[in-house]
Amino acid sequence: MSPAFMNMSPLNQLKETINGTPGHIRQILRSVVQETGPHCVDLFYKTLFHHERAAIFLEKETVEVKMRPQLLAWIQSLFSTEADQAEDLSELQCRIGAVHARLDIPTDIVVYGIYIIKQALVVGIKEATTNKDDVIDAIIYLNTMMDFAFKFMIKAYDINFRKKVESDEAFRLVSLGHNISYEKETQISTFSSWSTQAFFCLCKGHATDLPTIAESEFGLWLTHKGMSLFKGTHEATEIQHKVRDLDTKIEAIQKSGVIPPEFPTELHATITNLTFLIGRVFRHLEEVENGRDPLTKVFNRRFLEVVIQNEITFALTHEKPFSLVILDIDHFKKINDRFGHLVGDEVLCFVAEIIAANVRANDFIFRYGGEEFLVVLTETTTTEALACAERIRRALAEQALTLSSNDKVTVTLSGGVTSFAGETNSRLLIHQADEALYKAKNSGRNRIVTA
Ligand code: GH3
Ligand code: MG
Ligand code: MG
Repeated sequence: MSPAFMNMSPLNQLKETINGTPGHIRQILRSVVQETGPHCVDLFYKTLFHHERAAIFLEKETVEVKMRPQLLAWIQSLFSTEADQAEDLSELQCRIGAVHARLDIPTDIVVYGIYIIKQALVVGIKEATTNKDDVIDAIIYLNTMMDFAFKFMIKAYDINFRKKVESDEAFRLVSLGHNISYEKETQISTFSSWSTQAFFCLCKGHATDLPTIAESEFGLWLTHKGMSLFKGTHEATEIQHKVRDLDTKIEAIQKSGVIPPEFPTELHATITNLTFLIGRVFRHLEEVENGRDPLTKVFNRRFLEVVIQNEITFALTHEKPFSLVILDIDHFKKINDRFGHLVGDEVLCFVAEIIAANVRANDFIFRYGGEEFLVVLTETTTTEALACAERIRRALAEQALTLSSNDKVTVTLSGGVTSFAGETNSRLLIHQADEALYKAKNSGRNRIVTA
């Protein structure tokens, strides 16, 4: 390769390669693709379906309907493009790279896919001509073009991968400032104006003017926005019931014009109670917004992918290890069945405390599922992660929890450990830890298994 060629931009190098390859060599490639293209595509998917990590990205129907024709078109375009369309060709590779980044398809799988196609086309070239020099030139052309394609793809992949991590981060910052706090202040104040008005009517003895909550600004907000905002919390149902009960009484007073003597005390108690509930449900929301699990106070899953992606980027750029541990409480359902859900909740908090006491401040604890925790151990090798998980397992198994009822329970947990090994797909890492956990469960529980 001449120094002049090396100094060219990748796009000009591509043009030069297309222009500099004799017409008959390029024709060989075109015919080979024409003849064996569909076979290449078959081989590609057949091989990747058997590739454990690649198969995750291949959904049978999408492959048949979309991916096969796209792959064939890609191979064809690579060998039928003229130099003056090189720009379009490079842009296509960039788009493909961006899609790979969006789907988190690891680059080693892309390289493997390209390898499969190259091998199939080499066989085709050898069958297409008996002229040895032509075979060599055609193989060189094939390799150079494939290398170009990969070069453009990987550049776009890299840019998009970074963008994705950055936009997740930006999203986090924006959503941290989400107006839950503002909403809380506003609604506590509209609720308080309603209660002031209600007490004013009571003092003046204006029974018929007594306002219902449902018709107040707070009530309207609660019906149209609040209930969907608070959805899923038990406070929401409680608030709804209390409001309905109180409004029924107010409507009766409006109608009869008579204020029962016990009503002021009752109104006062209900308002105090509602203020407390509204405050609590908002606090709960604030925690969820901040990425925390309201029960155990560890992180919820919201920023899990962002955290792992950040660690991947850090590990890649600093050549540092990091590990993932998934911990799942053994037979947790039995605890709920035997002692009830509230005790189950107590146990969950206890387990979260034990985990927190056994990791460092630079590690991240997530509530991954109902009774599953995921720990991201930064700058930690597999051996160290295993030791840490064992420490947690032992601490829990050796320490009985005294319940508020004075009963004592001992719980155990099983764990799966995996470490970063160059894989840029966070979901795949989690998947590995999950599989190790599955093995720990199947081999008797109360143990840690490494992926
Ligand atoms: P295994 O050893 O195989 O993990 O058995 P297990 O019983 O722990 O697992 P399974 O997945 O069968 O049951 C998990 C239970 O965890 C079921 C669900 O009711 C309970 N759970 C999930 N989230 C919570 C929660 O927030 N509080 C309480 N109390 N229980 C929960
Ligand atoms: Mg589980
Ligand atoms: Mg469990």
